[in-house]
Amino acid sequence: MLSNSLIELDRAHLVHPVSSFRGHEKLGVRVLKSAAGATVTDTTGHQLIDGFAGLWCVNAGYGHDSIVEAAARQMRELPYATAYFDLGNEPAIRLASELADRAPGDLNHVYFTLGGSDAVDSTIRFIRYYWHAKGEPQRDQFISVEQGYHGSTTAGAGLTALPAFHAGFGVPYDWQHRIPSHYAYRNPAGEDAAAIIAASLQALKDKIEAIGPNRVAAFYVEPIQGSGGVLVPPDGWVKAMRELCRSHGILFVADEVITGFGRTGPLFACTDEDIVPDFMTTAKGLTSGYIPMGAVFMADHVYETIADGAGEAAVGHGYTYSAHPVSAAVGLEVLKLYEGGLLENGRRTGARLMAGLRDLKDHPLVGDVRGRGMLAAIELVTDKERKTPLPAAAAPSRRIFDRAWENGLVIRAFGNGVLGYAPPLCCTDSEIDAIVERTLKTLDQTLEDPAVR
Ligand code: PMP
Repeated sequence: MLSNSLIELDRAHLVHPVSSFRGHEKLGVRVLKSAAGATVTDTTGHQLIDGFAGLWCVNAGYGHDSIVEAAARQMRELPYATAYFDLGNEPAIRLASELADRAPGDLNHVYFTLGGSDAVDSTIRFIRYYWHAKGEPQRDQFISVEQGYHGSTTAGAGLTALPAFHAGFGVPYDWQHRIPSHYAYRNPAGEDAAAIIAASLQALKDKIEAIGPNRVAAFYVEPIQGSGGVLVPPDGWVKAMRELCRSHGILFVADEVITGFGRTGPLFACTDEDIVPDFMTTAKGLTSGYIPMGAVFMADHVYETIADGAGEAAVGHGYTYSAHPVSAAVGLEVLKLYEGGLLENGRRTGARLMAGLRDLKDHPLVGDVRGRGMLAAIELVTDKERKTPLPAAAAPSRRIFDRAWENGLVIRAFGNGVLGYAPPLCCTDSEIDAIVERTLKTLDQTLEDPAVR
């Protein structure tokens, strides 16, 4: 049992990320104690299938001794080494090389960060530097997509297009712009793929025109929008946007913090989309959440332009923990696990998950089922014809999350009744089936809940 004193200590001292401070004071903390495979156990002994892999990050699943050993070995041998200046360490060099070998196209240069937010923030700095080096410093305007998530640093939170990350924080800045999402289920252009692609292309062209064609530095895209509610673009959308950016000389950034490392099937979702971006950001699955790390991938021309621009001067961007040797050692081991069968298992069980969730389509509350690989969502509505969302006043997501938890399932509940799934790639068939069964039970209970209907 969790002692009351721990709850009180939490309430008094631990500020939780992306939480309602007052709401949390009332509810108190819910603490996980241990985990193995795809199962987590809380301090009351309640066991749950982690249908969200922590925060879409524990792609390999919990309890891999080989990852623990890799970290321990590295900690004993060399727990820290800076990568500043011309210093380095072996695991970081090896990991950069292994990643570059596997990355799409000529994304051959890897800059390690501590997570996804600072990976995105690093791209903003590198992109500004790039355009200065090219002699086009007026290209200082950035475009992203509504419902997108690109971290919560001061600059990155402005590219993130979710209201909670803006209100009261003074972002987005006047150099940050957005176009509407491809969100097929609620797109004014309808659900037809060609119409959605045409509408997005037009929106981006209009935005570029409005900003000024030689002012736009970069366009940011998640191959599948994650925190916006797992919004899967129609086939060809990402490629079409990439090509439009190329034709306008605008840098294209693929933010693969969620989609990277097997989440959608291949190691990187850009492969699904058959594109090579100018920058690619990753984190989460890079170390499977066992230790913090992110990585920015740069295409050859980006690296060369920055290098030529700087000449003998230092490019002044870095963190104490950039290219941390222990994180890199974990990254190398995790990569072995992915390629030693986890990617393959994830592809197989991901298809099972999608099929299982699609079977719920006839449930009276299910309006939409979407996803790819081990990344999925179902969107609940009270009226399928009108696509009426569950009533916000009933805080449906909170209720559904709590109910799923009681039913032994961790999910993510977005907005007013969008349920997100990103299970570890190690899930067995029976664990996938249990995720679907527990979802159905949760939906049936929600249907009986007068506050939600
Ligand atoms: N980009 C995307 C697409 C993300 O989903 C996230 C985190 N959910 C981030 C960036 C930020 O990563 P982090 O939370 O590791 O800072």
